[in-house]
Amino acid sequence: MSRHLFGDDVIFHQRLLKAQGLYGGTLDGRWGPLTEAADAEFERRGAGLRALGEFEARSERVLAGLHLKAQMAARRLLALAREGGLVARLVSGTRSYAEQDRLHAQGRYGNAGPRVTNARGGQSNHNFGIAWDIGLFDAEGQYLNGDTAAEIDAYRRLGALARPLALEWGGDWSSLPDVPHYQLPTGRSVAATRRLFEAGQPYA
Ligand SMILES: [Zn+2]
Repeated sequence: MSRHLFGDDVIFHQRLLKAQGLYGGTLDGRWGPLTEAADAEFERRGAGLRALGEFEARSERVLAGLHLKAQMAARRLLALAREGGLVARLVSGTRSYAEQDRLHAQGRYGNAGPRVTNARGGQSNHNFGIAWDIGLFDAEGQYLNGDTAAEIDAYRRLGALARPLALEWGGDWSSLPDVPHYQLPTGRSVAATRRLFEAGQPYA
């Protein structure tokens, strides 16, 4: 993250920092010294988690935006996948409300592209830094889209690796399974998590 974020996204980042106890200032959407210091500490702690395993650039970029507890869990899952011979990469992680709204608009209101989400800003655990999506790839770097039994099996193996980490896997959802999706369990509704997030209170 950085100081060249604008208004809404600065508030978004301040909430993420405050909920982790890193930011003691007000949620004012201004990138001042307190936000700067909190962000530096967030990055420092995130860098410390690289001891759990280091991954390719895209995964590292996605990891850096997640809640620190999610960074820890996602790194452990990627490390287990690597040990298990799976080529797993984080393809999506934290989305600000504005980013989520842009994604929601895809395929709607005359916009091009397939619809990829039913969630608007604030309606997805991706909006609180505690959810991430993992793609599997073959040895040549080709994305496995789950077209074959072997590919489906690979995604199931990854899902099984998440269980001992006490993560929720979207592939286990009975209605609308979301196979690439993983999240920290919160034990509460997205709406309840959202209220905590917006108040800068702990939720993970
Ligand atoms: Zn997801």
